[in-house]
Amino acid sequence: MLRPRALIVSILACAALGASPDPQIVPQHRLAGGQYVAIRQLASACELGRDRSHNARRAEYRTSTAELAIEADHRDIHLNGVVHWLSAPVLAQRGTLWIHADDLSKTIAPVLHPLLLAANASLRTIILDPGHGGADTGARGLSGHVEKEWTLDVARHVASRLADAGVRVVLTRDADTTTPLEGRPAFCLAHGGDIFVSIHFNSGGPTANGIETYCLTPAGSASTEDPNARHRNDAQVGNRWDERNVWLAHCVHAATLSATGAVDRGVRRARFEVLRDVNCPAILIEGGFLTNQTEEQQVMNPEYRNRLAEAIAKGILIYKRSLETLSRRTD
Ligand SMILES: [Zn+2]
Repeated sequence: MLRPRALIVSILACAALGASPDPQIVPQHRLAGGQYVAIRQLASACELGRDRSHNARRAEYRTSTAELAIEADHRDIHLNGVVHWLSAPVLAQRGTLWIHADDLSKTIAPVLHPLLLAANASLRTIILDPGHGGADTGARGLSGHVEKEWTLDVARHVASRLADAGVRVVLTRDADTTTPLEGRPAFCLAHGGDIFVSIHFNSGGPTANGIETYCLTPAGSASTEDPNARHRNDAQVGNRWDERNVWLAHCVHAATLSATGAVDRGVRRARFEVLRDVNCPAILIEGGFLTNQTEEQQVMNPEYRNRLAEAIAKGILIYKRSLETLSRRTD
């Protein structure tokens, strides 16, 4: 499998060469109560070459600039070096595999072809949101340390790296203060945020581990943890940036995995308040499990937190440069 960093560079090279298949031109078919596209037609439109899997229940495409691997009945796919969670499982019907049309337009196309996102792109102000704070401690680790300490520390380091790169950064809190969830999107709007990045650490069973990055579930789709196949939901404020959300999540998630070697829990979907109500592209990073002894020990190490912060900043800068590069092309 190709390394995430190499892939990000190659994706941009691909975009710069002008390869820009339009997901609208892939024929859709009515199956299982939804609109689906056949994997062969998707691969053809996205210039992914031929299927290398030799297995009727899998499909694997790999070119010098892109990688896609899917499996029947699975919602998790491999897309350019990282796991992405689809809104619906891959279907096996009529002798081929099918992907929901929304998953092509809202997940696969924006990652394979960020050129499609370039119109009116600008990124001047980044809002960093250290999760929790004050009376809201967040997750409690095995050591007794709490999430709010680490989120603020990592956010400050990310801010410092971004400031070094000449980017304006504002933190939703820069001290151990109670900051209500509902106030954070309003804070972003008031400070002219062009992207919003919320930083958290996870909790779960003792064996749960890895990094996951969330962006808002598209309207009508099921969130990653939702066992129901499909949901109807009205579009939220944050759905205006579905395509940029997933591209930003992809850039940051790939960078954090590359820097830490953590288990890839994927780019996931949820309707978290801070993602739903924010007035610009937004992601939420869960940078490891404080309830997992190995991961908590890593998070307690300042060198590890610094590495994680540098990776988050690097992912944000890759996203920023991609939009700027692409904007210049489309001026
Ligand atoms: Zn949290």
